[in-house]
Amino acid sequence: MRAFNFSPGPAALPEAVLEQARAEMLDYQGRGLSVMEMSHRSAEFMAIAETAEADLRALLDIGDDHHVLFLHGGASMQFAAVPMNLCAAGDVVDYIHTGSWGTKAIAEARRLANVHIAASSEAENFTRVPSPTEWRLTAGAAYCHITANETIGGVQFHDFPATGAPLVADMSSDLLSRPLDMGRFGLVYAGAQKNLGPAGLGVVVVRKDLVGRARTQTPRVLDYAIQAEHGSMFNTPPTFPWYIAGLVFRWAREQGGVLAMQRAVERKAAKLYTAIDESDFYHSPVRIADRSLMNVPFTLAEPRLDGAFLAGAEARRILNIRGHRSVGGMRASLYNAVSEKAVDALVAYMGDFEAERG
Ligand SMILES: *Cc1c(COP(=O)(O)O)cnc(C)c1O
Repeated sequence: MRAFNFSPGPAALPEAVLEQARAEMLDYQGRGLSVMEMSHRSAEFMAIAETAEADLRALLDIGDDHHVLFLHGGASMQFAAVPMNLCAAGDVVDYIHTGSWGTKAIAEARRLANVHIAASSEAENFTRVPSPTEWRLTAGAAYCHITANETIGGVQFHDFPATGAPLVADMSSDLLSRPLDMGRFGLVYAGAQKNLGPAGLGVVVVRKDLVGRARTQTPRVLDYAIQAEHGSMFNTPPTFPWYIAGLVFRWAREQGGVLAMQRAVERKAAKLYTAIDESDFYHSPVRIADRSLMNVPFTLAEPRLDGAFLAGAEARRILNIRGHRSVGGMRASLYNAVSEKAVDALVAYMGDFEAERG
């Protein structure tokens, strides 16, 4: 039996996707070889790549004015690729700082650009998203960067304000969880291993007019213009993760697309947050309006019970709910592939644990 997997990443994949990958593992569509074993330039893989891109474009309503790139290096590589491609060395870039992934994006950008922190919730321990009225944006900034969903702190942007400079969003843990108005964004990027597929792949959606101005020393594999020109195949792309992500995109479309994903995650998150809020034993540190629907951190009234809580969860096959080492407590990640049944099992367990030990 498959466990209830609340891993923050690499995270649960839809069972139907794993089944299909298994069925196609040794002999992809009668070709007598695995997707892992075929050339990225073969007709079979080109079809896989094109279908994946077409499905992602359909899911997020991405038009012709944006490139979609499938790249190595995960989200962290984009922490560097974004400034290398979108600004010159002395340019000012604005960052909104809402948690630990933002900290890392900022640290990387500081090596490459003149970073201005336009707003931060660090003083409140990253428990909220600063409202746009508090943002101090720089006139003429090359771009404004946000972390749409802070996977560790559980803080999520539920609205995207209009910014003068192109808006750049790290959506590693919430891309495909809701519809997006791509017209609002200059660039969106995500590591695949949270909500899109296996580790080893990053997706970049970038407005075409922002591409082609990478600084001259940018390594060519990181240059969006070069990757776009080569259909993300300037070098060998991560073919197997790309294929699995394609199966996830097809699955998401079959489920009803991003609106259906959004409704499902809203239901799951409502169940879990209600259980937390209705109890005196569990606590969510995040301001209600800014709570993440994807990653739900919570603490127990008595941290000395954390070990017993985790052990009891494992006994019920509820896995990977230990909070990040930087914040402690618990965290349940509710990505698209996590079923409502899994959330029901977690909520039931939380009730039983509180009744027994709380
Ligand atoms: C996991 C994560 C990252 C880092 O992703 P890698 O693919 O490991 O580089 C960056 N940003 C956010 C929001 C994440 O959740």
